[in-house]
Amino acid sequence: MSDAVSGTNPWALTPAQLDLQARARALAEDVIAPRAAEVDATEEYPWDNVAALNEAGFTGMTVPAELGGPGHSFLDAVLVVEQMAKVCGVTGRIAVEANMGAISAVLAYGTDEQRRLASDYVLSGDKPAICITEPDAGSSASMMTTRADRRGDRYVVNGKKHWITGGGVSKLHLIFARVFDQDGSELGIGGFLAIRDETPGLSYGRREPTMGLRGIPEMEVLFDDMEVGPDMVVMPPSGWRRGFADLMNAYNSQRVGAGTVALGLATGAYELALEFSKKREQFGRPIAEFQGLQWMLADMSTKLEAARSLTYRAACSRGTGPDGVASPFPDPALAAQAKIFTAEASIEVVSNALQTFGAAGYSRRNPLERMYRDVRMFTIGGGTAQILRTVVASRILGQKLPQTRDGYVR
Ligand SMILES: Cc1cc2nc3c(=O)[nH]c(=O)nc-3n(C[C@H](O)[C@H](O)[C@H](O)COP(=O)(O)OP(=O)(O)OC[C@H]3O[C@@H](n4cnc5c(N)ncnc54)[C@H](O)[C@@H]3O)c2cc1C
Repeated sequence: MSDAVSGTNPWALTPAQLDLQARARALAEDVIAPRAAEVDATEEYPWDNVAALNEAGFTGMTVPAELGGPGHSFLDAVLVVEQMAKVCGVTGRIAVEANMGAISAVLAYGTDEQRRLASDYVLSGDKPAICITEPDAGSSASMMTTRADRRGDRYVVNGKKHWITGGGVSKLHLIFARVFDQDGSELGIGGFLAIRDETPGLSYGRREPTMGLRGIPEMEVLFDDMEVGPDMVVMPPSGWRRGFADLMNAYNSQRVGAGTVALGLATGAYELALEFSKKREQFGRPIAEFQGLQWMLADMSTKLEAARSLTYRAACSRGTGPDGVASPFPDPALAAQAKIFTAEASIEVVSNALQTFGAAGYSRRNPLERMYRDVRMFTIGGGTAQILRTVVASRILGQKLPQTRDGYVR
């Protein structure tokens, strides 16, 4: 079944993509869906779902063939993420991070050894953690205080991050810190790789009790004289000064992925509401026969069509980087537009889907209640809807705005 209103293949997906989508849908419906409520209730990381994703070849999808991966496109990964998120937001998010998160930055800027290391992790099912946000540096991420001091050819990292998705379950971490040279001079912000249980000085603080997406921990991550060698420094070609902007630019693929999870959740919610509206009778007929409800369903479907088109377009975009160099990432402005629109539309769609169920939608017996809590996150994490609007404004005004979190103006 297509997720679109009309046509069986409205986005002109290739036969291989349609096959991939069908395989993802089957796994989602047969294996992931039956566990979704339990994952939410127990708040336990669904290792069995991770194994199922890995077995199906749905982790490390974007790793190129020379590193042992299948070399899928971002759109291919999006098709898989969307199907997972339709039935389980947590598994959708795991699929994003195992295909389009920190791995994108390492693949783009890492040395051959780092690219191989990160690829091996995602290909074996790891969901790398990306550690940027700090208690006093959220939207203004470049105000971070975590620091890496050079000692000979090594770096000693000290500081604290919070709201780190997968902290304590992820093996590989990409950590951002301000870098200081031996003489104390500041070089800029850089990225460092660290591995849980292997890198001394890397530990975890408290877990955040979250509103939704409860099966994946949001943790404090602590660095106490965490020492890393030069082989674990992820240095973009333009060096420390531009390092943060470069590394954050890689994050645009994650943004498209995050929007896709919202899209999947909303599509799942809409389909449940549509089915329910045909069966539930009031005033002697199915509630789907009332125009008030028909218009709600029509609006939901319209928003989903628009969100899906924008998300797929962003997934297919390839920007031109600063200095005219081709960028391997989705276009930053399109990625921002896709995440803003999709997150906001999806929150509205899930809310109206819940409304369609009346009181039943408000019961914890119903998946809508979980989906409503899950989808609320997507205007916040990975760049808030306000900050992303500033990214779009930067592009259309053609200037770097002081309050932008990252990225470039082109
Ligand atoms: C579930 C979840 C998972 C997350 N996972 C990760 C992760 O894995 N790694 C990681 O590093 N971080 C992660 N984060 C953190 C996330 O990126 C930050 O929450 C986000 O960047 C916002 O920072 P903040 O929460 O400190 O809000 P603040 O920056 O304090 O913002 C508060 C409010 O002010 C608004 N605001 C701030 N500045 C401006 C401005 N210039 N113009 C207009 N409005 C503005 C914001 O939009 C927001 O509404 C996650 C967050 C959540 C909720």
